[in-house]
Amino acid sequence: MSNTGQTTGATVVPLDRTASHDPNERRWKFSELLADEQMHARWEKVRKFFFLRESTYDMSNRCNIRCEGCYYFEGDKQFTRENRDPEAWRALMRAERERGITYVVLAGAEPALVPELLEVCHQEMPLGSIASNGVRHIPASVGYKIHISVWGSDETSARVRRAKRLLERQIDNYAGDERAVFVYTYTRENIAEAEAVIDRLVANDCKVTFNMFSSPVGYSGPLRHDSASLSATRCSMIELLERYPDHVLFSPYSAVAHTCAKGLHDLYRCSYPRMNPSTHIGLGRSFRQYRTDLNWDRAVACCVPDTDCPDCRHYASGSAVVTARLQRHAIDPDHFRAWLDYVDTYLAVWVMGYRKGENLQPVPVAPPGFMLSPP
Ligand code: SF4
Repeated sequence: MSNTGQTTGATVVPLDRTASHDPNERRWKFSELLADEQMHARWEKVRKFFFLRESTYDMSNRCNIRCEGCYYFEGDKQFTRENRDPEAWRALMRAERERGITYVVLAGAEPALVPELLEVCHQEMPLGSIASNGVRHIPASVGYKIHISVWGSDETSARVRRAKRLLERQIDNYAGDERAVFVYTYTRENIAEAEAVIDRLVANDCKVTFNMFSSPVGYSGPLRHDSASLSATRCSMIELLERYPDHVLFSPYSAVAHTCAKGLHDLYRCSYPRMNPSTHIGLGRSFRQYRTDLNWDRAVACCVPDTDCPDCRHYASGSAVVTARLQRHAIDPDHFRAWLDYVDTYLAVWVMGYRKGENLQPVPVAPPGFMLSPP
């Protein structure tokens, strides 16, 4: 794959093309943007979900595989005792509902090891998702989205995640399961493998989205991205999106937003409490990251704790951080369409029953205020 430009169908967009807002250009009013039928329809589709208020929960401090560069096993959260009392989790979910939380992300270390707790959470809080390695099947009665982490071919997984035949086992467990989205995490080392892995997932009718390896604090190993790998990843993402538009849940703008030299915080300002001192609105007010003992600490709360913020390009972070920046994107049709595509993608990945529409902005644009330049 070439890494000298971004492919968009037959078009190759030069990397130095400027698509960010020029202050001398026309300023669009929101009502003018919504006068366009397509944008208006998509806006009405996505805004029905603005009621979602998330928090995240570590379900278990154990995992059945051990991956290099796992942020869960960085920092002190891994040493927290497990609360495995289903009634304690039920009480927590009810309390969370009371304070306005409408969506739960059940994660670290491996949630599939505590299915009885997942059941209770789902009974009390029907909207949510589970981040799993996919080795163990989660009962169908747990009606959350299930994000299955894929880090490359079976050979790579055997080396980096110390798990044999991982993709095969993941497909066996989740092919045809409408809850499942396979999340291919691009590292510096596995870009060339993406094509064959996605081919195999699509052949098994699996839905796919993309993530970026984001280094835990202090990690400088071989998975950490550099400028060449960011550029190659962007090309790979867009090529695979074009090849498999019905199976790859992604957008050209998502590819740009997650492969810039700057991380998400520098591009959009992260709104999670760990990077946001304000407690007035949004995530800064409502977000909590619970440990396995059901305690939480605002000072370290974000959806991927112990990730190195300048290197954070994580799909979970972007889902909240980019989505929250409506006003910055409602400046012209290109940026607004790109933002709508991003939100439409995020909802298709995270919400059961939500169907992704066709991307409205096929040509990549830069994050507002930036140039579309080499990562
Ligand atoms: S790791 Fe990412 S999501 Fe977490 S506080 Fe840092 S920038 Fe935000």
